Amino acid sequence: MIEIVFLGTGSMFPTKKRAHPCIFVRNENVRFLFDCGEGAQRQMRIAGISPTKLDYIFITHWHGDHSLGLGGIIQSLAANRRKRKLVIYGPEGTNERVYHLLKTFAFGLTYKIEVNEIKIKKGVVKRIIDEERFAFEAMQVEHNVPCLSYAFIEKGRRKINIEYTKKFGLVRHPLLGKLQKGETIVYKGKKITPEKGTYLTPDKRVAYVTDTIYFKGLEKIAKGAKLLISEGTFSEELEEKAIEYTHMTAKEAAKLAKKAKVEKLILTHFSQRYPDVSKLKEEAQKIFKNVETANDFDKIEIK
Ligand SMILES: [Zn+2]
Ligand SMILES: [Zn+2]
Repeated sequence: MIEIVFLGTGSMFPTKKRAHPCIFVRNENVRFLFDCGEGAQRQMRIAGISPTKLDYIFITHWHGDHSLGLGGIIQSLAANRRKRKLVIYGPEGTNERVYHLLKTFAFGLTYKIEVNEIKIKKGVVKRIIDEERFAFEAMQVEHNVPCLSYAFIEKGRRKINIEYTKKFGLVRHPLLGKLQKGETIVYKGKKITPEKGTYLTPDKRVAYVTDTIYFKGLEKIAKGAKLLISEGTFSEELEEKAIEYTHMTAKEAAKLAKKAKVEKLILTHFSQRYPDVSKLKEEAQKIFKNVETANDFDKIEIK
């Protein structure tokens, strides 16, 4: 199961109800943030999430609304005497920016910070982390500074095809463990291959797309996702403004969801000019039905 907590759903200006962009995600193997806006660690505390357990922080870009909370988290982890390294991913320029951040403040670091700067061509999806049970992908998008979109992939698992193995009288046997690992087994002189004796559950993808104009190919990062979290910064009547500021309207986010054939779309990164975002949801729903708008502290579970 993947659990997602929206910690900040605003954009450049925070409001009474919406903090700066930050999304916490965890499953049984990994915990991370997509963006780390100002006040991220306090939002985590309010949501009952401990920053000490974070493995990764993925920064889409270095506009302050997406990244000003990083220093605060780095400081708290040092105060907690963290020993485990913290891994940060970000777009072009990330090495230099983290270097300066670490020089600027007297953090008293007790742990290592690993910085990974991702430089790729616009529209190309790159697998940036590939572990046994999960993976991450990134794509360069088009904003007015270098900016990435990310996808988290919970890898599918090999499960025993019980109907098939039962035919051999093979039930609750230690050999099934080997079969589940993808090995061919022999039981009472009969061969059982993983191709027949097992099946793979599909990967689950959660894509995070923000601060970009809509362009052809953007859907690749979200293809077939269980969930697409996308900016829906502006309403359709401000489409020109959206292009000028290199952002997407809620309608374009819906277009993206439809093209990527995702299961669900959650809009976030709302302009402070919309105290009520129901209009944005309606505009999106004309194109893609399964849409929600995120609020700070909303929690979603993907099974
Ligand atoms: Zn932004
Ligand atoms: Zn931005």
